[in-house]
Amino acid sequence: MDKDCLFCKIIAGEIPSGKVYEDDAVYAFKDINPIAPVHYLFVPKTHICCAKKITAENSDVVGKIFEAIAKVAESENINSYRVINNCGEEAGQSVMHLHFHLVAGKKMGWGEQSLG
Ligand code: AMP
Ligand code: ZN
Repeated sequence: MDKDCLFCKIIAGEIPSGKVYEDDAVYAFKDINPIAPVHYLFVPKTHICCAKKITAENSDVVGKIFEAIAKVAESENINSYRVINNCGEEAGQSVMHLHFHLVAGKKMGWGEQSLG
Protein backbone atom coordinates (compact mmCIF):
# COMPACT_ATOMS: atom_id res chain seq x y z
CA MET A 1 0.00 0.00 0.00
CA ASP A 2 1.15 3.51 -0.88
CA LYS A 3 -0.16 5.81 1.86
CA ASP A 4 -0.53 8.74 -0.54
CA CYS A 5 -2.37 6.77 -3.23
CA LEU A 6 -6.11 7.33 -3.76
CA PHE A 7 -6.79 3.84 -5.12
CA CYS A 8 -4.76 2.14 -2.33
CA LYS A 9 -7.00 4.02 0.13
CA ILE A 10 -10.12 2.83 -1.74
CA ILE A 11 -8.87 -0.80 -1.69
CA ALA A 12 -8.17 -0.48 2.06
CA GLY A 13 -11.72 0.87 2.63
CA GLU A 14 -10.43 4.22 3.89
CA ILE A 15 -12.30 6.00 1.09
CA PRO A 16 -15.77 4.71 0.08
CA SER A 17 -16.35 3.24 -3.38
CA GLY A 18 -19.09 1.51 -5.31
CA LYS A 19 -17.54 -1.95 -5.30
CA VAL A 20 -18.55 -4.22 -8.18
CA TYR A 21 -15.98 -7.03 -7.75
CA GLU A 22 -13.24 -8.21 -5.40
CA ASP A 23 -10.93 -11.22 -5.12
CA ASP A 24 -7.55 -11.83 -3.53
CA ALA A 25 -5.68 -9.83 -6.18
CA VAL A 26 -8.20 -7.53 -7.88
CA TYR A 27 -10.61 -4.79 -6.77
CA ALA A 28 -13.18 -3.15 -9.05
CA PHE A 29 -15.46 -0.18 -8.46
CA LYS A 30 -17.64 2.38 -10.24
CA ASP A 31 -15.85 5.36 -11.77
CA ILE A 32 -16.94 8.50 -9.91
CA ASN A 33 -17.19 10.44 -13.19
CA PRO A 34 -18.60 7.93 -15.71
CA ILE A 35 -18.18 8.50 -19.44
CA ALA A 36 -20.70 5.77 -20.36
CA PRO A 37 -23.68 3.97 -18.76
CA VAL A 38 -21.23 1.31 -17.54
CA HIS A 39 -17.84 2.61 -16.37
CA TYR A 40 -15.90 0.54 -13.85
CA LEU A 41 -12.25 0.63 -12.79
CA PHE A 42 -10.28 -2.62 -12.24
CA VAL A 43 -7.14 -2.29 -10.14
CA PRO A 44 -4.53 -4.63 -8.70
CA LYS A 45 -4.58 -4.74 -4.89
CA THR A 46 -0.83 -4.25 -4.92
CA HIS A 47 0.39 -0.77 -5.79
CA ILE A 48 1.80 -0.60 -9.33
CA CYS A 49 1.98 2.98 -10.61
CA CYS A 50 1.33 2.38 -14.24
CA ALA A 51 1.58 0.04 -17.23
CA LYS A 52 5.25 0.86 -17.77
CA LYS A 53 6.05 -0.77 -14.43
CA ILE A 54 4.53 -4.15 -15.38
CA THR A 55 7.31 -6.76 -15.17
CA ALA A 56 7.74 -10.55 -15.26
CA GLU A 57 7.45 -10.45 -11.44
CA ASN A 58 4.11 -8.62 -11.21
CA SER A 59 2.35 -9.24 -14.55
CA ASP A 60 0.18 -12.12 -13.24
CA VAL A 61 -2.28 -9.60 -11.90
CA VAL A 62 -2.94 -8.21 -15.38
CA GLY A 63 -4.31 -11.59 -16.46
CA LYS A 64 -6.35 -11.73 -13.26
CA ILE A 65 -7.79 -8.29 -14.01
CA PHE A 66 -8.88 -9.43 -17.48
CA GLU A 67 -10.42 -12.57 -15.96
CA ALA A 68 -12.30 -10.36 -13.50
CA ILE A 69 -13.49 -8.10 -16.32
CA ALA A 70 -14.83 -11.12 -18.21
CA LYS A 71 -16.63 -12.41 -15.09
CA VAL A 72 -18.26 -9.06 -14.32
CA ALA A 73 -19.25 -8.57 -17.97
CA GLU A 74 -20.85 -12.01 -18.08
CA SER A 75 -22.70 -11.58 -14.79
CA GLU A 76 -24.07 -8.19 -15.91
CA ASN A 77 -24.89 -9.36 -19.47
CA ILE A 78 -22.46 -6.89 -21.02
CA ASN A 79 -21.77 -8.35 -24.45
CA SER A 80 -19.67 -5.57 -25.94
CA TYR A 81 -17.24 -3.39 -24.10
CA ARG A 82 -14.00 -1.44 -24.28
CA VAL A 83 -11.06 -1.81 -21.87
CA ILE A 84 -8.82 1.25 -21.58
CA ASN A 85 -5.52 1.84 -19.84
CA ASN A 86 -4.03 5.33 -19.82
CA CYS A 87 -0.29 5.28 -19.10
CA GLY A 88 1.38 8.57 -18.28
CA GLU A 89 0.15 12.14 -18.16
CA GLU A 90 -0.02 12.82 -21.89
CA ALA A 91 -2.20 9.73 -22.38
CA GLY A 92 -4.54 11.02 -19.67
CA GLN A 93 -3.50 9.04 -16.59
CA SER A 94 -4.60 11.07 -13.56
CA VAL A 95 -4.34 8.45 -10.78
CA MET A 96 -0.93 6.80 -10.49
CA HIS A 97 -2.16 3.32 -9.53
CA LEU A 98 -2.50 0.92 -12.47
CA HIS A 99 -6.13 0.67 -13.56
CA PHE A 100 -8.18 -0.55 -16.47
CA HIS A 101 -11.42 1.20 -17.39
CA LEU A 102 -14.31 -1.06 -18.44
CA VAL A 103 -16.62 1.07 -20.56
CA ALA A 104 -19.90 -0.15 -22.06
CA GLY A 105 -23.51 0.64 -22.77
CA LYS A 106 -23.16 3.02 -25.68
CA LYS A 107 -22.01 3.04 -29.31
CA MET A 108 -18.35 4.02 -29.34
CA GLY A 109 -16.35 5.66 -32.09
CA TRP A 110 -12.85 4.76 -33.15
CA GLY A 111 -9.99 6.78 -34.64
CA GLU A 112 -8.33 10.12 -34.08
CA GLN A 113 -11.50 12.02 -33.13
CA SER A 114 -12.30 9.57 -30.32
CA LEU A 115 -8.99 10.46 -28.67
CA GLY A 116 -10.44 13.87 -27.77
P1 AMP B 1 -7.24 7.95 -15.49
O1 AMP B 1 -7.57 9.33 -15.95
O2 AMP B 1 -7.07 6.94 -16.58
O3 AMP B 1 -6.06 7.97 -14.54
O4 AMP B 1 -8.50 7.45 -14.68
C1 AMP B 1 -8.74 7.79 -13.36
C2 AMP B 1 -10.21 7.64 -13.14
O5 AMP B 1 -10.44 7.62 -11.74
C3 AMP B 1 -11.06 8.77 -13.71
O6 AMP B 1 -11.96 8.25 -14.69
C4 AMP B 1 -11.79 9.33 -12.49
O7 AMP B 1 -13.13 9.69 -12.75
C5 AMP B 1 -11.71 8.17 -11.52
N1 AMP B 1 -11.77 8.53 -10.09
C6 AMP B 1 -11.09 9.51 -9.47
N2 AMP B 1 -11.37 9.52 -8.14
C7 AMP B 1 -12.26 8.51 -7.94
C8 AMP B 1 -12.94 7.99 -6.81
N3 AMP B 1 -12.76 8.51 -5.57
N4 AMP B 1 -13.79 6.95 -6.97
C9 AMP B 1 -13.99 6.42 -8.20
N5 AMP B 1 -13.36 6.85 -9.31
C10 AMP B 1 -12.51 7.87 -9.20
ZN1 ZN C 1 -1.90 2.60 -5.03
